[in-house]
Amino acid sequence: MLRGLLALLGWVALAGAPGIVAGCRNPAAHEVDAAALDPGDAPAIDAAALDPGDAAIDGPAIDGPPGVPDLQLVAGDMRRYRVTPTMIEADHCAVTEGCVSGTGMRQLLRFPTETVNRGTGDLLLPPVPDPEISDDNYEWSPCHKHHHLKGYTRYELVGREGVILTGRKQAFCIADMKQIDAGAHQQFDCASQGLTRGWADVYDWDVDCQWLDVTDVAPGTYTLRVVVNPDGMFPDSDRTNNNFTMPVAL
Ligand SMILES: [Zn+2]
Repeated sequence: MLRGLLALLGWVALAGAPGIVAGCRNPAAHEVDAAALDPGDAPAIDAAALDPGDAAIDGPAIDGPPGVPDLQLVAGDMRRYRVTPTMIEADHCAVTEGCVSGTGMRQLLRFPTETVNRGTGDLLLPPVPDPEISDDNYEWSPCHKHHHLKGYTRYELVGREGVILTGRKQAFCIADMKQIDAGAHQQFDCASQGLTRGWADVYDWDVDCQWLDVTDVAPGTYTLRVVVNPDGMFPDSDRTNNNFTMPVAL
């Protein structure tokens, strides 16, 4: 009881932390089982202690052609992940959104995603269509009651035989949430989407669909690979720096 209460308090504190945008965290739509997020059962694991991975995102901004964004991933916070047991009822948005491979108690590999624009230009996004309308760039979610930007990030769990699971960020909005490089002024939010050079977009680990459903994955060590702009849908001067990998123990 006490542990459950502490977990709930911790979750509330995290959800209310400054700099974390609500995004897809719509309480009425998602019903994340906060009591299941018991830190005693699902400790955050510092992957840096296991393996450095191949992410080297903390270096200086790369010189690119003038006026072109360069999307990258910020390794630091992304190295912390959790595997949480979470109850997914049949009417949960995650079912209709295809974010789980079954209902009932699911084991979800959760991690934050932080993407940064370290190019020479701002990332400008097309205007969002009207409610209930989907187009080439945005998909209307009837369950979440907002649009999801397509093709922004992809998540993969990789084993010895290759990719085992694939997921993607259910991007509610891409916005300037965290300043990485000094000097750039914040200009984008959910009403006017984009990513200013020198700013990062942050999705925390407790956002709906910010996970891979690993319920049916055999115990072992795997590689989590996160790719921003995987299909080149967005202007990006260097796509060789779009990958982040780290080992995860399941
Ligand atoms: Zn959503």
